[in-house]
Amino acid sequence: MTNQQLVWEEETKQLLSPVCRQCPEPHFQPRAGELPRIGCCAYEPVFTLYEIYRMVKEGAAEFFLNSIYRHPKNTVYDYEIIAGAYLHPLFYKKLPGEDISPFQRYEEWKGQAGTAYKAVDERLAYAMCQFFVDGKGCGLDPRFKTSICRSFICESVEQRLSGEERKKLAEWQRSIREEAEPFHRKHKAILQEKGMSLPENVHGIIEYFMYL
Ligand code: SF4
Repeated sequence: MTNQQLVWEEETKQLLSPVCRQCPEPHFQPRAGELPRIGCCAYEPVFTLYEIYRMVKEGAAEFFLNSIYRHPKNTVYDYEIIAGAYLHPLFYKKLPGEDISPFQRYEEWKGQAGTAYKAVDERLAYAMCQFFVDGKGCGLDPRFKTSICRSFICESVEQRLSGEERKKLAEWQRSIREEAEPFHRKHKAILQEKGMSLPENVHGIIEYFMYL
């Protein structure tokens, strides 16, 4: 289905919006002229077992190993990988009239429960997803995008939708979640049972997915 605000790509199961080209969401506006306009692609995607399975099944195990598993910015947890963002140099600079840099503010805020959410926003304002390509948008093969990246639609776009479109949006978002989340939970439990984890047995996990 296509309308002016929302596009559903059936083949890759992803939601897109032409509105994103000129992101109107106040939360994602750059704080300074030097910062790129990247909208919600400041976030750091989390690759679960579902996305890893998709890469293996599509013949992209080498891409997974070299560009995700071994990428120096990424953090490999037992059953997921966080793709670290690039941080703009302004993150480390004091703005005119300010006593501390955004980085120092982030460090101050991140350890306290009452300000931890502000710390996340402070860092996000200077972050850019490693897959974002200036002038293009997401540079990652859509088959391997995380379920969040394929389903996230911000408040500003949602407000422009009719009641019927919002219903469809909720259905599509549910279908993306219902495919990825149970898969991750099921295979995490199996791999735990086998005593396998990404840091210790990445090749074994690739083989496990290959024959699934
Ligand atoms: S993977 Fe693509 S859609 Fe997801 S945050 Fe990065 S650039 Fe944006």
